[in-house]
Amino acid sequence: MCEITATVIGGGIVGCAVAAGLSGQGVATVLLEKDDAVARGTTSRNSEVVHGGMYYPAGSMKARYCVQGRRMLKEFCTATGVQYRECGKLIVAIADQEIPELERLLELGLLNGVEDLRLVDGAELLRLEPEIRAKAGLYSPRTAILDAEGATRAYADQARSQGAQIMISAPVTGLERGRDCWKVQVTPAGDGRREGWSHSSRLVINAAGLFSDRMAALAGVGIAARGWKLVHSKGNYFRIDPRHAGRVERLIYPVPPADGSSLGVHVCLDLNGQLRLGPDFESVIGVSGQEMDPADPLAELWDYRVDPSRGAEFFRDATGFLPWLKPEDLGPDQCGIRPKLALSGFRDFVVCREGGDLTGLINLIGIDSPGLTCAPALAREVVRLAMELLDE
Ligand SMILES: Cc1cc2nc3c(=O)[nH]c(=O)nc-3n(C[C@H](O)[C@H](O)[C@H](O)COP(=O)(O)OP(=O)(O)OC[C@H]3O[C@@H](n4cnc5c(N)ncnc54)[C@H](O)[C@@H]3O)c2cc1C
Repeated sequence: MCEITATVIGGGIVGCAVAAGLSGQGVATVLLEKDDAVARGTTSRNSEVVHGGMYYPAGSMKARYCVQGRRMLKEFCTATGVQYRECGKLIVAIADQEIPELERLLELGLLNGVEDLRLVDGAELLRLEPEIRAKAGLYSPRTAILDAEGATRAYADQARSQGAQIMISAPVTGLERGRDCWKVQVTPAGDGRREGWSHSSRLVINAAGLFSDRMAALAGVGIAARGWKLVHSKGNYFRIDPRHAGRVERLIYPVPPADGSSLGVHVCLDLNGQLRLGPDFESVIGVSGQEMDPADPLAELWDYRVDPSRGAEFFRDATGFLPWLKPEDLGPDQCGIRPKLALSGFRDFVVCREGGDLTGLINLIGIDSPGLTCAPALAREVVRLAMELLDE
């Protein structure tokens, strides 16, 4: 008999939505988060866009969960009072040669079930967004922005109200499979205020984001053989001078780069109408090129500073469709690190129920964009897998 039924590692939006889903099914759940609050990881370092779902190959998890997750997030935010604004999005072609790519994305989006997607010509574009210069656009009115940290806290609150324990400053440092249970070791950072402990758990859900490959390795998964070793890329943002707030009402994206590395530097809106540009794509290993020590599950060497000299490139990319932008309007803002399975090309999320010696472990690896949008749908799938395991 294990002390706990399910242990969730990671208090980002995915882990918190999983904890809410499991506790909602009456499963005794503990969530362990290494930081001193939930939503301190990638969940609080992104564009906060609830994506439509037109970029991803038909039938992939990213395509299906994006459309499902968006509907679920809208419903959840409405029910819990978390800020969610359906501002809409335009992908714009600044040259005639880019228009076929908009047509391809329209076709893919319709195949993926994205609602109300349509092409707009230059005249309609000007009517919708008079401050944007482009030849044509693909309009997704259902794309939204949300308060990502607020949504994560709301999932954690829901989990708590259903009996789950949400434990912060609780880093998992050991995972060992016994006869029927996993032994989960927690070792808080050594300020002497809290002792470490271990507990036994029937299920372990690895939702550790940037650390998820190392958590899987800690549990005994051969991550290199499975192609699960994460590569990291940094996405930097530059804020646009607040005096320009409100000049653009929708999210404005370029036609995405052909290598599939990112969606291209776009105009992000926050919930107060302020404008930012980003994220770009900077491949990183760690500070000064150091490799993360694979034997240390908590080593964190990423440099979260934004290099101001990157502003020139942002300016060059954005003036194509924001003719009024001046170099002095841009200032470095935040950045986020993407937990990617490959630096280019398409890789789908990994959601994997382990068997054999690792039974009871469910791994979520490579939850990069659109992971925020997909979180509730990913959580629903994890709950389905967990209930299957508990029924065996
Ligand atoms: C620049 C950028 C822009 C993006 N823009 C968007 C967007 O607009 N829309 C969208 O849908 N997606 C976007 N994404 C992707 C999205 O942010 C992520 O997919 C999503 O936040 C992943 O959530 P998560 O819960 O898996 O990870 P995280 O938020 O990273 O949570 C994982 C948690 O696990 C904890 N943890 C790690 N190791 C341990 C351990 N040993 N013990 C205990 N806890 C541990 C961490 O502290 C962290 O809190 C973007 C990502 C980036 C980087």
